[in-house]
Amino acid sequence: MTKTPKVVNISDSAMVVLIGAAGSGKSTFANARFRATEILSSDFFRALVSDDEGDQDATDDAFELLHLTLEKRLRRGKLCVVDATNVRAEHRAKLLAKAAAFQRQAVAIILETPLIICVERAASRAGRSVSAAIIRQQTKELGPQLADDLLREGFASVFHISSLDQVEIERTTTATARLK
Ligand code: GDP
Ligand code: MG
Repeated sequence: MTKTPKVVNISDSAMVVLIGAAGSGKSTFANARFRATEILSSDFFRALVSDDEGDQDATDDAFELLHLTLEKRLRRGKLCVVDATNVRAEHRAKLLAKAAAFQRQAVAIILETPLIICVERAASRAGRSVSAAIIRQQTKELGPQLADDLLREGFASVFHISSLDQVEIERTTTATARLK
């Protein structure tokens, strides 16, 4: 039996923030549904500055570039998908401030993959692995109150995606101004 896909409506000028532990499937989800240029991935920017997407020492530089790129795209009214764990409110606040500055809709997509699956997938990933302890910590920050927190923080909508969901992204066209 084919499950009816869950439809996620997103404005074509929105900032989409993926939220999930390492191994939860954020990059797989994004790569299957968005253009490469729409995805702002912390791993990609780490690799850009250090040739190694797992180089944690490159994190500050990587996020500086991610935020700069986000700003340039949001100004143009271009869809942005922020592919990073985004499990901490203080990190999300910086993203939300950018979306608010350009009056773009902020959408949160939570990848609700069980801890055990995240750990298995992260361990079997080629090239680098994130420890189970770190993934457990990341998952802890995603408690049952998360959706309420996100709405309070300023996200216009919050979607929950489980790995079994078939998800279809529907883009709604909005008249967007390129802001100064
Ligand atoms: P991220 O760390 O959240 O970006 O997770 P990734 O998208 O890199 O996924 C981690 C690993 O899980 C990769 O090896 C993926 O191929 C695998 N993976 C992601 N989503 C799925 C899924 O829905 N089903 C299965 N079986 N594997 C998946
Ligand atoms: Mg990833």
